[in-house]
Amino acid sequence: MDSATRDKYEPVIGLEIHAQLKTESNIFCGCSTRFGDEPNSNTCPVCLGLPGALPVLNRVVVDMAARAALALNLNINPASIFSRKNYFYPDLPKGYQISQYDRPFSERGWVEIPTAERNEFGQPTEWRTKRFRITRLHLEEDAGKSLHEGMSDSATKSYVDLNRSGVPLAEIVSEPDFRSSWEAYDYMQYLRRTLLYVDVCDGNMEEGSLRCDANVSVRLRSEERFGTKVELKNLNSFRFLQKALEYEIDRQISAIEAGEKIVQETRLWNDRQAKTYSMRSKEEAHDYRYFPEPDLPPLVIGEALIERLRAEMPELPEARRRRFVDQYGLSFNDAAQLSDSRAMADFFEEVAHGSGNPKPAANWILNELVRELKNAGVDISQSPLSSSQLVGLIRMIDAGGISGKMAKDVLVQMYQSGKSAEETVREIGGSQVSDETAIRALVDQAIGENPKQLEQYRAGKTGLFGFFVGQVMKLSGGRANPKLVNEILKKALED
Ligand SMILES: [Zn+2]
Repeated sequence: MDSATRDKYEPVIGLEIHAQLKTESNIFCGCSTRFGDEPNSNTCPVCLGLPGALPVLNRVVVDMAARAALALNLNINPASIFSRKNYFYPDLPKGYQISQYDRPFSERGWVEIPTAERNEFGQPTEWRTKRFRITRLHLEEDAGKSLHEGMSDSATKSYVDLNRSGVPLAEIVSEPDFRSSWEAYDYMQYLRRTLLYVDVCDGNMEEGSLRCDANVSVRLRSEERFGTKVELKNLNSFRFLQKALEYEIDRQISAIEAGEKIVQETRLWNDRQAKTYSMRSKEEAHDYRYFPEPDLPPLVIGEALIERLRAEMPELPEARRRRFVDQYGLSFNDAAQLSDSRAMADFFEEVAHGSGNPKPAANWILNELVRELKNAGVDISQSPLSSSQLVGLIRMIDAGGISGKMAKDVLVQMYQSGKSAEETVREIGGSQVSDETAIRALVDQAIGENPKQLEQYRAGKTGLFGFFVGQVMKLSGGRANPKLVNEILKKALED
């Protein structure tokens, strides 16, 4: 599609994100939430909805939902109501899901985050801060899972695993505030990071701990009214979300340009074919015949609980990123990477404070340590190199005990051996030469070997100073203390 046609239209996107709360047991029964167990081994009469079984709300679910709500600036309702959402599906044999409808757990939140469009190489163009409103966060139980492949008779039968039924979910519904696929992408990233920061969701999209549906419509830029929206279901990776939105926006614009009408429907993303396809026409809310769950009383949240949780709230990722820029003078990108997870941010601040040198701390982590971690496929929380060991290394560099170039090798060795900087330097026998007599000898040698350059230097070509430094460093095998080399060389050249 040519960009002129595309620019006539404005996409309008809203996201519904299901986050699995990381409790040990289900929302209304004691069954385990463990992932990957034998199918149908974690079920009981309550989560199967057998007659006579009564649900009891898991207290930890309430704490976690409240932490998520506070982190997203949502207002927690003093009383919320559980409702039955009625529908039958093979993965929901009890015929209804316990959810929340007209009195949800929390409402009217927002996040204010950096967002950017990306160029053709996927690189952010210009970051700007934008506020996205969040309609509500409510609680519900998950359904089971239909298995269409991988079982003995999968060719002719479908299977169902009900382990997941009754797992606690927070459904986080946004306002239709996104105007591009990248805005939706940046929001989803931020949401995941925030839920990890407040420790209520493991964020694992492959295991379905975080799932995303998107409502998409387009309208002429001059138009006030929203276009007909299409729901994209199960966008279970950031890449799928962004690609499916791009495709769907183009599809709708092409259809409208061709004089067709957009049908309200649910569509799925097929990554192999890189297109969305129609799954079914969309249910309206009244199709679910919601009514209050008769077996659960209203959920009443006291002010004291909210105040306690608010007081315990950690600094959130965006606030931390901004502080890293202000307090340590880091660039936007460095601050964003270092605040990506709490473990990373804590590690950085430990090294920054321990070494008293925040910029090198950031550089050593982002350039050297992150590469080692990536090669080993581990997270910073499992780093074999501790923050205090990195502090030791940076202090050694600052004291002139070791050159920056050599420190890179030392870091790799420390990472592998788990030993301190001093020990490692001693072991590889490469401790920096800080002995003045030894350096003096190297300086004399370098000058003696380059009479022509010496003549030029003394005739005023002082730019050759760097050349002599290089010669001395070469003679020392890169081990001479650069500060001392500079001092001694300067004196020798001027004599
Ligand atoms: Zn159960």
